[in-house]
Amino acid sequence: MIRNCQQKFNATLIPGDGIGPEVVDATVKVLDALGAPFEWDIQHAGIAGVEAHGDALPPQTLASIRERKLALKGPLTTPIGEGFRSANVRLREEFQLFANVRPVKTLIAGRYDDIDIVLIRENLGGFYVAHEYYIPVGDDPKAVAVSTGMNTREGSKRIARFAFEYAVKNGRKKVTVVHKANILKALTGIFLEAAREVAKEYEGRVTMNDMIVDACAMQLVLNPWQFDMLLCTNLFGDILSDELAGLVGGLGMAPGANFGADTAIFEAVHGSAPDIAGRGIANPISLLLGAKMMLDHVGLPDLSARLHNAIFDTLNISQVRTGDLMGTATTQQFTDALIERL
Ligand code: NAD
Repeated sequence: MIRNCQQKFNATLIPGDGIGPEVVDATVKVLDALGAPFEWDIQHAGIAGVEAHGDALPPQTLASIRERKLALKGPLTTPIGEGFRSANVRLREEFQLFANVRPVKTLIAGRYDDIDIVLIRENLGGFYVAHEYYIPVGDDPKAVAVSTGMNTREGSKRIARFAFEYAVKNGRKKVTVVHKANILKALTGIFLEAAREVAKEYEGRVTMNDMIVDACAMQLVLNPWQFDMLLCTNLFGDILSDELAGLVGGLGMAPGANFGADTAIFEAVHGSAPDIAGRGIANPISLLLGAKMMLDHVGLPDLSARLHNAIFDTLNISQVRTGDLMGTATTQQFTDALIERL
């Protein structure tokens, strides 16, 4: 008798908006072909959540994640300026997903070879707490806009400790703390100070340096090889992770994971890409790499390595690439070619 003793992992699957359902569909097909033992509970969020249940973060989606503590999520559209608050930010707050891990690695020869950088972003504080309001002057109700950021010592230490622990566990040697403590002396000064304190506990194992965000943005273009890990406040991490994606081929190549004390949500760094949605041409690699991180998280490094190698071979041996990588493959063609390489 053949018995399947492999453990199953229950996870919430959120197709998301725009290109979300296209890249999620591709990723689930690849995970199935790989034999990844996930049992999906499909739930909606973002515009799809509003359409299905009248809420960008419906209660049933929250309940599903609360029960499973594991999710794979397509991008969610957030209206610019007016409209509902970001479902992504609400998700992070709801599950206290304080750590956002965004690794980039060169997979195709291009402008920058041998890039291998992990960005750790503080995910709950900074300007994303959204204490924002307008002050009316005269007949202009929005004459003055005010936004308050907030970082706590405890939150800054928690993310710093996460970054240094990540370095130790993953054989990384240097953490560069990114800040603007010359201008935002309190908001990012407390972050730098907390990181310095935590770094002392790791002396001899992991080194720490720090860089002002504007200098870091330039250094990433001039000499990205000097970086091993970046530890960033919320807004700077959001911005610099797109720059990192640019070093390795663009937003189609960059995954992200959000970790709390007991819940983890995996995703792509990119958004819902309304300009190409529905055309079947999106690059699914970012979300596939998010799924790879999810395999590592549940303790399946062999499947994770197989997925990574297959992506590499599809790009470089099969030479099948989507349009953002100057190829001609559709999402479906890339997915089929990848499945053949598994
Ligand atoms: P975006 O990341 O959606 O797109 C930026 C550019 O990159 C576009 O030209 C797009 O076509 C391209 N691109 C992105 N992903 C791609 C892929 N997989 N393959 C090929 N090309 C790809 O950023 P945006 O246009 O500023 O944002 C659109 C929406 O997404 C907004 O509502 C924003 O709030 C949301 N967003 C969501 C997330 C998330 O859910 N994690 C992240 C970022 C933005």
